[in-house]
Amino acid sequence: MRFKSCTVYALNIPFTEAFAHSAGSRAASDSIIVKLEARDGTVGYGEGVARPYVTGETVETSINHIRKVLWPAVSSSDYADLVPGADPLHALTGIDESLPEEKSDDVIAFNAARSCVEIALIDSLLRRRKMSLAEILPPRRTSLTYGAVISSGSLESSTSRARQLKLFGIQEVKIKIEDREGIARVLAVRETLGPRARLRVDANGAFNKEDAVKVAKEMAPLDIAAFEQPTPRKDGCDALREVRRQSPVPVMADESLVTIDDARALIESEACDYFNLRLSKCGGITRTLRIAREAVDAGIYLQLGSQVGETAILSAAGRHLVAHLERVEFVEGSYGKLLLAEDLSRDPIHFAYGGQARTLRGAGLGIEVREEVLERYAVKKIHLREDDTVHA
Ligand SMILES: [Mg+2]
Repeated sequence: MRFKSCTVYALNIPFTEAFAHSAGSRAASDSIIVKLEARDGTVGYGEGVARPYVTGETVETSINHIRKVLWPAVSSSDYADLVPGADPLHALTGIDESLPEEKSDDVIAFNAARSCVEIALIDSLLRRRKMSLAEILPPRRTSLTYGAVISSGSLESSTSRARQLKLFGIQEVKIKIEDREGIARVLAVRETLGPRARLRVDANGAFNKEDAVKVAKEMAPLDIAAFEQPTPRKDGCDALREVRRQSPVPVMADESLVTIDDARALIESEACDYFNLRLSKCGGITRTLRIAREAVDAGIYLQLGSQVGETAILSAAGRHLVAHLERVEFVEGSYGKLLLAEDLSRDPIHFAYGGQARTLRGAGLGIEVREEVLERYAVKKIHLREDDTVHA
């Protein structure tokens, strides 16, 4: 299968409310969407979310990478059909390998860009055969329970958000904290949701290791299931391992886990109990699956995380992957219109009461993208054709 064009959309879909954590605050989705069109007219979509504090990418550098590196590789490749088999990696590896890896000093990995293109390739190849991604990634479960996130803010706003979540039947809640004052908010959320809720805390690397240990010890009586990224990525695996060694709360790696090399280093140094997998952060379905395999082999548990503001495309891809994976403890994302003024899919795929959502069965990712919504919220649109030669 050969592709004749690639359209890249930089979106700005307003949120219904702002979202804040220690690494930033945002009020709109700035996802990048890639639409690939094959010579036979088949169309597929992919998505990535560029975050400077996660992979080092910006919307601009991601789009440039797609234009100069990934699209030229895709347009010169002829893709074989995806064939379901005993090992999904066997089916998917060719797609991943067709996308070149390029290093840059300012970027950990161009994984948001890769996620856009890899997911669009998979969606297209499946749609041509009218196959669902579930045929490549056979689900182990038919329904999933999503959790919700309480962003940084005041004690009052955290408590009122916790009340809303309780009314919506949500029992899995992650609280963003950025300093030791955050512990009071965690306590307020615990008191609001009661003893049965499963709470996690995410610091987005806000603490040094000594403070992280103190915070973990102070939070421990609140029955916290995981402490996500207590120390910053730049402090390395050693800091995480040191926190894990002294913390009564299990430790989860997020920003420290971008590439497969990161995964191996974290495993090697026994730095964490959980991995937070995110498709855009980890470079698409194939690479995230590869990281998950290594984690499972090492006895690490998984969270499928999301990007705040992701649209139905990343949500759908994530749902397929997480339904397939073993050792999944927590699932995030699929907010759809609960957060976005408008989502891209024809049928809403956001979770329902209690965070419940069904697996998807339709062709490709299992959603129908509304192109008119893409057009409406695109702040930038670039159309690349087969014969576009780009000189870096
Ligand atoms: Mg996180």
